[in-house]
Amino acid sequence: MNPYDSPTYNMACEQFEQAANFLDLPEEIRKRIKSPKRALIVNIPVRHDDGSVRNYHGCRVQHHLAFGPTKGGIRYHPDATLGEVAALAMWMSWKCALVGLPYGGAKGGVACDPKKLSKGELERLTRRYTQELIPIIGPYIDIPAPDMGTDAQVMAWIMDTYSVHMGYSTPGVVTGKPIEIGGSLGRTEATGRGVGYLINRAFDLLKIDAAKATAVVQGFGNVGEHAAFALALHGTKIIAVSDSSGAVYNKAGLHLDDLVIHKADHGTVAGFKGADAIKPEEIVALPCDVLVPAALEREITEKNAARLKCRVLAEGANGPTTPEADRILANSDVFVLPDILCNSGGVVVSYFEWVQDLQNFFWSEAEVNDKLYRILEKAFVHVTQFAKTSQVPMRTAAMALGVSKVAKAAAQRGLFP
Ligand code: GLU
Repeated sequence: MNPYDSPTYNMACEQFEQAANFLDLPEEIRKRIKSPKRALIVNIPVRHDDGSVRNYHGCRVQHHLAFGPTKGGIRYHPDATLGEVAALAMWMSWKCALVGLPYGGAKGGVACDPKKLSKGELERLTRRYTQELIPIIGPYIDIPAPDMGTDAQVMAWIMDTYSVHMGYSTPGVVTGKPIEIGGSLGRTEATGRGVGYLINRAFDLLKIDAAKATAVVQGFGNVGEHAAFALALHGTKIIAVSDSSGAVYNKAGLHLDDLVIHKADHGTVAGFKGADAIKPEEIVALPCDVLVPAALEREITEKNAARLKCRVLAEGANGPTTPEADRILANSDVFVLPDILCNSGGVVVSYFEWVQDLQNFFWSEAEVNDKLYRILEKAFVHVTQFAKTSQVPMRTAAMALGVSKVAKAAAQRGLFP
């Protein structure tokens, strides 16, 4: 029985096996580090505003415990499943290892549509879910953070519920919190800023002038929005964006501030006046210098990979490209910034938040950004050089670097008993 069996989990396993084959990892170590270490499945009864009680399914998966507590976001999405969450936990492991954070990967999920819940319902759901997770979370055990459908407010409720249970304030149990209760400056923007930084490094490498470049962003949530602003800072034109309700395109460039206001008013980018509506599935095929998938997994597949007309594919999302699509892209001139490198800025600043919380000593935003860019620069150089010297695609290089660190740690710790 494989409780995680699902297209996304199987895809994460295929990527792992490719890296493990490249590293020639012994079967024994492979098996030990591939399967998630633990998963807790919980039933979350929530009283709705109309007085009725509904039950939601939730889980938390901790992938490996080889070198510290586990770390990763919590996703609220109608389609969240144990298998998807396990895949996301696995990717967190390789991501944290790649950029040198002392964490194993984790992820949590609740199958719900946060857009359809009132604030009170969302709070009751979050507090009950947190209560169910208390045996397996904590600043030295497993530290959640925001992911799709969750934000700083949700993190504040988690921190409060955990702190009430413990009897003292425990900011280090969660990252991505509001600044007032121990959050870090720059955390909200960190994933998008990191994506922007790495795209500019890719542009340098490919001799693309950022000030003349164009970008297409699929998914205009926290990651997509901040990546768009980070690119615009260097003069890159954002020509199209999409979300789950629609896509908009303007060859002359979208006015980002107006777009953000439109999204705040309407809950979607669809209907934005400063652009034309296009079909969401067409967005990935638009000619541009960089395409940023910043939504769900498995968006770039064997069906559309050959239609990509970008020079750089910058994976703001986790797992946006399937292995079949990777094989097509390997024969094209698309430069891939793989997810575990490209979107690592978020968890890097989560790590900074955790360190600040444990020390009760807080940094300026300039310090946070400076430390973030240093880590990303090192990882970028490492992955690009490894890909070049080993003659492998960027994903294989990034995965191999991440996986080998976990494999070494597991081997050094040995097997108990
Ligand atoms: N959810 C984010 C990710 O997928 C951030 C996780 C974290 O900060 O722990 O990388």
